[in-house]
Amino acid sequence: MGADSRMQILRLGDRGAAVADVQTALRSLGLLPEGDGTAAQRPLQAVSTLPDGALDNAVFDEATELAVRHFQQNRGLSVDGRVGEETYRALNEARWSLGDRLLRYDPERAVRGDDVINLQERLHELGYDAGPVDGIFGAETEVGLRAFQRDYGLTSDGTCGPATLRALRQLGRKVTGGRPQLLRQSASFVESGPHLISRRIVVDPGHGGSDAGATSGVTTEADLMFDLASRIEGRLAAAGATVYLTRGRNQNPTAAERTAFANDARADLFVSLHLDAHDSDHARGVASYYYGTGSGASSTVGEEFANLARREVVARTGMLDLGSHPKTWDLLRMTRMPAVRLDCGYLTHPVDRLLLLDARLRGSIAQGVLAAVQRLFLPAEADPPTGTFTLSTM
Ligand SMILES: [Zn+2]
Repeated sequence: MGADSRMQILRLGDRGAAVADVQTALRSLGLLPEGDGTAAQRPLQAVSTLPDGALDNAVFDEATELAVRHFQQNRGLSVDGRVGEETYRALNEARWSLGDRLLRYDPERAVRGDDVINLQERLHELGYDAGPVDGIFGAETEVGLRAFQRDYGLTSDGTCGPATLRALRQLGRKVTGGRPQLLRQSASFVESGPHLISRRIVVDPGHGGSDAGATSGVTTEADLMFDLASRIEGRLAAAGATVYLTRGRNQNPTAAERTAFANDARADLFVSLHLDAHDSDHARGVASYYYGTGSGASSTVGEEFANLARREVVARTGMLDLGSHPKTWDLLRMTRMPAVRLDCGYLTHPVDRLLLLDARLRGSIAQGVLAAVQRLFLPAEADPPTGTFTLSTM
């Protein structure tokens, strides 16, 4: 999309290529369904199969207006359902992913975009102060990036190019091993709160492979929970924990395989991630589950972590608090360590869905889970709950 200083405001009823452009952007963000709303096609395939001239005939219909409103609400813009300069710019920023372009500090004209948010988040995860996570590549972002490059033995030029991207990606894997060099790099995380070195945590993204879980258009619970699990993994690893995911992006282990994996890993904690769906589009909110029969026998630590994780997530997202509940599901019963299932919202609820589609909000959920893990293992209170500490760890 271009950047004319005076652009025509697009609104309900307008037609043409500019409308098609906006719709493509909304689709790529998962806010506007393909065609009749049921086709699970990728935007590029959908466009390539359109008849000639279809783009010029694109209509700014009610579905488009609703999607624009959702986008505006989501990004904290004024919600009017029209695409003026500000909304147009925000749509443009939302389309960038890390790696799409070189990122560097330009005092004359700051680079803006969701790729900058990703970079800032990543630097913070690794313990570097890159300034506020605002999607604007400012002087503080450059300072944080240069510090990272210096520590990692890269040319400290403040430009995020291929070599830096490769290092950022490789680091994600190496951090899990807790190497001394990387523990130093996550020093500011350690200083900012209790560290998790020697803790082994299994994160279980629900569903996967042929099992998409709950779906909404092209958005699937399986994909969103894999993304969330990766974010949690990064934060926990940066805080010193050893983290394992129960599945790859396209795998779908059984409940028995997932619990056996956690048992074999001798994990200290098991966190399963799911979303919910309901016929009523009023159902919404965050719930958590721990092992228990509801009449006595239950996992004390599991219940404590279920409460901590739910409260931390609710506090950071403003989503509805649906409480913590004892369940006897295999996933909770077969694990030999405290196990909790966290249901992070309803994909069928319009607001929950929008929140979940926002990468920044998924980052906030991950941050909430990290805070809960830290509070569980190293509570700030002078008298930790019974069972958390043993004599040998004191
Ligand atoms: Zn599920």
